[in-house]
Amino acid sequence: MKLEVLGTNAAFAKDGTTNSFVLWKYENDGILLDCGFSVYQDLLQKNYADKINTVLISHLHQDHCGSLVNLLDYRFKVLNRTTSVGGTPTDKFMLLHSGIGWEAKIHTFPENVSYTKFEVPHAKGMECYALFVENKLLYSGDSAVSILSRPEAQVAKMIIHDISLAKGGIIVSIDELADAAPEIKAKTFLSHYLPKDYDTLVAKAQAYGFGGVLKVGDTFEL
Ligand SMILES: [Zn+2]
Repeated sequence: MKLEVLGTNAAFAKDGTTNSFVLWKYENDGILLDCGFSVYQDLLQKNYADKINTVLISHLHQDHCGSLVNLLDYRFKVLNRTTSVGGTPTDKFMLLHSGIGWEAKIHTFPENVSYTKFEVPHAKGMECYALFVENKLLYSGDSAVSILSRPEAQVAKMIIHDISLAKGGIIVSIDELADAAPEIKAKTFLSHYLPKDYDTLVAKAQAYGFGGVLKVGDTFEL
């Protein structure tokens, strides 16, 4: 399985792609983790829209789900294909953004994709989930707390943790992840940042012993 980084941006970056990743089960069968407002254009440009058969959404902030409906509509109306959607419950969201009949665009979760989820604290009143996909990749979503002490973190081959630089916000700070075990930190990669903060994050990640800071186009064999 191959992980490909499509975007690493936090919500308010000037340009680039919002936090998003594809786990390729096969060359033509990808699981998309989060589909923020700028992801759809990337998927079309890369000719990936017909290959993303499953989408997992961590939560319903626009930088994590803002082009989900575009992708589902394109696959349904142009490619005549349905899509599996999991992670955070999207029923109300789909009704609001897609209208009556939205169910036709979605098919039952495929047996060939496995994932579990657990709720993490984020913005008040909003459900947010960490996702553990194919027993290999653990993704934090915008968790306000570290998920590095979870049992899934022990088992995971790779962890993606969204972070911020400041403590006390709705996304955990990089400093608060630093007390995790060294072997956990070594397989943890950081994402969800503003491009201007990249160098600062890289220096901190190195000092703390994290695997690194994700960049667009990075790939990993899992
Ligand atoms: Zn969020």
